Amino acid sequence: MPFFSKIKKIFSLGSEKKSPAKKVSKNIVVTTEMAEDLERTLIQANFSFSLAQDISKRLLKVSKKIDTADSAVELVRMSVQQCVEKYVNVRELPLKKLGLTVIVLVGANGTGKTTLTPKLCKYYTDLGAKPLLAVGDTFRAAAQEQSEIWAKRVGVAIHQGAYKSDPASLAFEACERAKREGRDVVIIDTAGRLHTNEDLMYQLQKIVRVVGKIDKSFPHEVLLTLDSTTGAHLLSQVEGYKKFVDVSGVILTKGDGYSTGGALISLLYRNTVDILGVSYGEDIDSFGPFKLEKFLERIVQS
Ligand code: GDP
Repeated sequence: MPFFSKIKKIFSLGSEKKSPAKKVSKNIVVTTEMAEDLERTLIQANFSFSLAQDISKRLLKVSKKIDTADSAVELVRMSVQQCVEKYVNVRELPLKKLGLTVIVLVGANGTGKTTLTPKLCKYYTDLGAKPLLAVGDTFRAAAQEQSEIWAKRVGVAIHQGAYKSDPASLAFEACERAKREGRDVVIIDTAGRLHTNEDLMYQLQKIVRVVGKIDKSFPHEVLLTLDSTTGAHLLSQVEGYKKFVDVSGVILTKGDGYSTGGALISLLYRNTVDILGVSYGEDIDSFGPFKLEKFLERIVQS
């Protein structure tokens, strides 16, 4: 059952209990039982416990305004929206007017980084910029091949290293090359890794440190790809990555399946997050800004 239909049911049942003759009562008294049901539903949709409690408390406070199950749903929707608005900072991908913009893409395996990189190149090409794609995943031949095919399709320059070569020196070389060739932006893709694998996380630190030797302002962004469908793990990924590198923002991937929007909201509740875009499919143009309305719609459907 869709998320908001479940919420509506909680309050519809309440109104039926109160006045069985009518489908919808004039005033719904929000009982603690309803508030608990609401919390349970929110937690099942991956909202954190503290956020679920916060939303149900807000509802109890304004319960006099609730005259139909629909208005209860609307209040929950507004609470969710306010929360997202408060904690999300939607920004565009950066592009310096002068000089090179350096972006490092990081994230766990399978979060959609390799699929995303050509889309970012296309995004920059459409702006009239000249990107260079550095394929930092030197340990996965398939990632190299996939990036090569896409780079050709998009007509973007690509920087690759030898199989199993040091990704930090590859990133360094790519930045030097981009500067030499007068490029506007270099996108450094890195191998997927779990934040719990310390050795791999130190390798990521090294990539960031090494490009910073060329210019203190490098990299301008360290962007974490988050698979929107992975539920509560989003929070541990963000917190885990932040322990090792200075994550400046996130890109949500697989936005065509926001089934666990609640986890994203819970993530926002604990951390103010910059969202620099949403990737939402296999098509090269399926990348765009985060849109709150669309996001809420997805939760409604999930
Ligand atoms: P990586 O390991 O982070 O490089 O992840 P990949 O880019 O290889 O993607 C992992 C899987 O997710 C592949 O099967 C992709 O086809 C799929 N995928 C990536 N991005 C999207 C997306 O935006 N929407 C959907 N539906 N699938 C995606």
